[in-house]
Amino acid sequence: MNGAPMERYYKYSSYLKDQYHEKVYKIPVNLPLTCPNRDGTCGIGGCTFCGEIGTGFESQDNSLSVKEQLEKNILLIRKKYKAEKYIAYFQNFTNTYMPLDLFEKVVREACIEGVVEICISSRPDSIHDAYFEILKNVSEAYQVNISIELGLQSMNHKTLKNINRGHGFAEFLDAVLRVKTYGFKIGVHLILNLPWDDHDDIIETAKTLTALKVDMIKIHSLYILKNTVMGKSFENNEFTVDSVESFVDKVVDFIRYTHPEITFQRLLGRAPKEETLFCNWDMSWWKIQDMIMGQLESLNAIQGDKVDYLNGPAVKKFI
Ligand code: SF4
Repeated sequence: MNGAPMERYYKYSSYLKDQYHEKVYKIPVNLPLTCPNRDGTCGIGGCTFCGEIGTGFESQDNSLSVKEQLEKNILLIRKKYKAEKYIAYFQNFTNTYMPLDLFEKVVREACIEGVVEICISSRPDSIHDAYFEILKNVSEAYQVNISIELGLQSMNHKTLKNINRGHGFAEFLDAVLRVKTYGFKIGVHLILNLPWDDHDDIIETAKTLTALKVDMIKIHSLYILKNTVMGKSFENNEFTVDSVESFVDKVVDFIRYTHPEITFQRLLGRAPKEETLFCNWDMSWWKIQDMIMGQLESLNAIQGDKVDYLNGPAVKKFI
């Protein structure tokens, strides 16, 4: 008799089930914000790949209050997915880049019935204890969990410069350690096929995030938006994107070098076709997902099967 198909990587849906024992749905909250890498505080113009709308394509109108946005979405989602528990996901731009009193107001506003977790998306250089003190108080007052998602994109400090991230790797390390001090969950966003990172960079990234014990990883494939610095440079043939096969190889190895307790929120990015110059090799995302799964199966590989580098591998023979 055939059992359930083997899960070759730790899917976010399984992670949520493990955490909450029922269906939980993540709902975006869209605030009228900017980012310190766009307004000149630590950079001008933003990351070279960043479009005007930050990183969210599915959010509600930001003129609505946080409560209104959540209630509107909950109404739709409850009907469609039969979910009763929700994660309020502050997704666009840099959601700690605002005065503390405003931050506290919007976070408290998100604590409505059914919300079990507040997820704050931010940049490594915009993580400060003062915001975490607020989150700690809100978490205790409303009995909600807190998670922080950090955009990193690349662990290679030269690539970070190249894409004008406005921060280096040290800021990321500081941010992760700070989140851990508060006991919040931590997620990291990466683009696995930036043209300036090679296969070894990707393996080293998986090893570093494993050593740091992050909780969640969201992998993006590089999509190139129109009217961006990266878009102009792509149109001028200043760089090329590697093949889909090379991307699949990177994702497969990344999964194998990542600890099995870390969950993958997704394995590739998506963007509306009309807004991009390049997106997923003009293939549907599920076809690429199938290629990744096919390669894991043909290698009989699973998440973490290459995690042999922790806890002093050189001295294991003496122990
Ligand atoms: S950190 Fe995010 S919002 Fe800011 S410029 Fe980069 S991609 Fe855009």
